[in-house]
Amino acid sequence: MNAGTLSRGDWAALRLPIAGSRVVVARGDEVEDLDPTTQEVVARLRTSIPADVAEAVGRAEAAFKTTSWRSDGRLRSQVLWRFAERLRTNVEPLAELLTREQGKTIGEARSEISGSADMVEYYAGLARSLYGRSAVLGEHVHGVVVREPVGVVAVITPWNWPLTLLMRSLAPALAAGNTCVVKPASLTPAITVRALDLLAEDGTLPDGVVTCVLGPGSVVGDALVGAPGVEMIAFTGESGTGTAVMQRAALGTRKVALELGGKSPNIVFADANLEKALDGAMNAIFTTSGQICTAGSRLLLESSIYESFVARLVERVATLQMGDPLLATTTLAPLVSADQRRTVEDYIALGRKEGTVLTGGEPPSEEYLARGYFVPATVIVDLPLTSAVVREEIFGPVLTVHPFAAEGEAVALAEDTDFGLAAGIWTSDLDRAWRVGRAVRSGTVWINTYHHFYPEAEVGGFRRSGLGRQQGIEGLLEFTETKHLNFDAKPTLW
Ligand code: NDP
Repeated sequence: MNAGTLSRGDWAALRLPIAGSRVVVARGDEVEDLDPTTQEVVARLRTSIPADVAEAVGRAEAAFKTTSWRSDGRLRSQVLWRFAERLRTNVEPLAELLTREQGKTIGEARSEISGSADMVEYYAGLARSLYGRSAVLGEHVHGVVVREPVGVVAVITPWNWPLTLLMRSLAPALAAGNTCVVKPASLTPAITVRALDLLAEDGTLPDGVVTCVLGPGSVVGDALVGAPGVEMIAFTGESGTGTAVMQRAALGTRKVALELGGKSPNIVFADANLEKALDGAMNAIFTTSGQICTAGSRLLLESSIYESFVARLVERVATLQMGDPLLATTTLAPLVSADQRRTVEDYIALGRKEGTVLTGGEPPSEEYLARGYFVPATVIVDLPLTSAVVREEIFGPVLTVHPFAAEGEAVALAEDTDFGLAAGIWTSDLDRAWRVGRAVRSGTVWINTYHHFYPEAEVGGFRRSGLGRQQGIEGLLEFTETKHLNFDAKPTLW
């Protein structure tokens, strides 16, 4: 099926949790899950009550203690491989559900599902290679350092890339032998449950290895973070929520991995391939309509190209097509919710007061307003560096642009932030790319590219952007404890 054949008329709301779901534990109120483009009901679900959270954690504890899951790397690898295969077979229905529930374009939804399968495949391989170290510590003394799973891991996810961000934590946590309780964002439960049910179709997956609870973070998420059986929390979301989760986890001395917000600089030097840099600047900020943690939301331009680059950027922005994200022609999708649109519009209003809005920022036409939570792509210049529009994460299609005179000033501007998740550098000077790349304190620095992610390569944040790393080998080791087994092999002792 291609995007052109998708039709708004043929959708019947899902009723989730589906009877017989092996993963969802939810006996609370029924809620409606709405499409941000049309406000049609995408799914009807039940939320979890506190007793459901306790039950899900209890099942995960039992699976960890009583099954072979934590010791059988081959089983874990096979389960993950088969899960990846089912994700790949179901790209089309999952992508359609993702677009209807989250609002992102269908092309992006397809790549999110395929990318999630890729992540699961990567950790399926690593599940069989969880190596430790050994050392000779004395004439007869040997140390063997092994990596063991942490135990029950709570995986709490946001709504912007709900499957990618779920798999980025869930796949390594499972590969390392943990059992998991997932709590998805309240705006994207259906895609999460659908994917987890595909995982649970595997007849060899022991009961309780993966369960899912649904409902508001302030109630269900909070209960999960505080549940006595949970030993680690892998949280992806906003920096303020992450801080609250960390405080709550500290009460039980629980391990946390935090993937939080960003306000990433994208630096263009005059010697760059400017055509490519323009494409890169558009992709950096308008992917997922700016609702992406690594959004290159602060564009830093060398003064000599400032005027001409901004003029071309404004022309390019005018070509973006707002519209139905199920159509292949749409390049700017709606935001996820009315609340998110209100927040973004408030920042634009502030930008209009404190700077100059060059393009966008006007309310969309009636046609769009009637149909979804659209916000036009917006470029703002002349803002003071103290403005909240420059300093805070907006999570919408809003780009601020700032000139710099020299490399040192570019680095100082890039570093003038509380965050440190990602950065972009555009230059044809290899020495400069290296120098600036080392000077900017961010978990990822893209050079002459932007928004390319690989399961093999770690991501994560400096400063308020998070704690720990996901993806890659480090992403697997995050979900382990280190144990030293110490042998005294003196013959008289044995
Ligand atoms: P939130 O922090 O609002 O929510 C994230 C998750 O936490 C949701 O499942 C939410 O549930 C839950 N939650 C909320 N309050 C609590 C609580 N007190 N205890 C436990 N769980 C809770 O983030 P958003 O969903 O709005 O996502 C956007 C944010 O995520 C942005 O800041 C973005 O930068 C960040 N992000 C970071 C990424 C990274 O890799 N660093 C990747 C993607 C996004 P509910 O939905 O019910 O409120």
